[in-house]
Amino acid sequence: MNNSERIISFPHIGNYYVAIEFLIKNTLNMKSLTPPPITKKTLELGSKYSPDFVCVPFKYNLGNYIEALEKGANFLVQAGGGCRFGYYGEIQEQILRDLGYKFDFISILNTDDLNPLSVYGVFKSVNPSINFRKFVYYFELTLKMVGVIDKIEKYIRENIGFEVKDGSFEKLQKEFLKDLKKIKNFRELNAVHKKYNILFNEIKTNKPENPIRVGIVGELYTIMEPFSNYFIEKELAKKGMEVTRFITVTYLFRSHPKTKDLIKMAGKYLKYAIGADGTDSVARTKELAEAGYDGIIHVKPFGCTPEVNAMPMLQNISNDYKIPVLYFSFDSQTSETGIKTRLEAFNDMILMKREKEKCKKVI
Ligand code: SF4
Repeated sequence: MNNSERIISFPHIGNYYVAIEFLIKNTLNMKSLTPPPITKKTLELGSKYSPDFVCVPFKYNLGNYIEALEKGANFLVQAGGGCRFGYYGEIQEQILRDLGYKFDFISILNTDDLNPLSVYGVFKSVNPSINFRKFVYYFELTLKMVGVIDKIEKYIRENIGFEVKDGSFEKLQKEFLKDLKKIKNFRELNAVHKKYNILFNEIKTNKPENPIRVGIVGELYTIMEPFSNYFIEKELAKKGMEVTRFITVTYLFRSHPKTKDLIKMAGKYLKYAIGADGTDSVARTKELAEAGYDGIIHVKPFGCTPEVNAMPMLQNISNDYKIPVLYFSFDSQTSETGIKTRLEAFNDMILMKREKEKCKKVI
């Protein structure tokens, strides 16, 4: 297949599809096809053809691929990564071939060291005529775009729970993503960032001085793909909570502490690295507990070993700092009602704890 016939597609993860599309379009000179937004059908398709034992990100990705192939994609990209996710690409490729699809497949970021040169090597193998200077320019621009998405979404997480008019943040976020898709260079990206910084700040909120603050820790895919965590940030916002999370693409590739530093941050709770994001979950839970957060939510796919490893330490932190930790384990059968009920109880517990602390101060 020559490059002009290739239609490249990739799995969804949050709103980063805008940046991935941008990078493909401007460096590989190939058509890209973003898979349809994730729905229950995506998960059903992925689960139907996945081995039972795999964790749920595998199933979501596979569902994305099938939907993209059905829409005409013929070149699939897998990101690869730490833990067993690094091996998932090959299995997904085989499953799709067994289903009779014809396509090319590449694992694009199978490195912890995301730098222009390593990614350039992979891109060059896809399109030998790629121009190095142009690639570096758009690669850096893409990383900056990801940074802008992360900054804007951080502001949203911290403030959407207090919007005066329902839906104002979501509406503006859609416009932001639409404008982001149109940018061509750093100047335009900076202008979009500036414009939406102002617009988001202008949205009226009634945030109290001491809002309820909740931190989310856990496995990266489940944290960053809202469909896979049943839109947990949105549910927390509805209860008037400020949400903090560290894991974003910018965090993973630009500001993620070294493992030895995370172990140090985790103090007496951890002596060794426990794989994938588990070490991070422990270190950050301790940090959030020390910062006086009201509660922690731990999210993971069912059977995610690194996060299962982290749970006993999270429980120790919860006991020592008297901070509630709510554990969610998601798979393709998770009940939405169950999630809502547990969040309701979590919220009540935090409110009661606050009330108790207020009474203590008065006495
Ligand atoms: S980190 Fe957890 S969910 Fe992700 S691939 Fe590894 S085991 Fe699966």
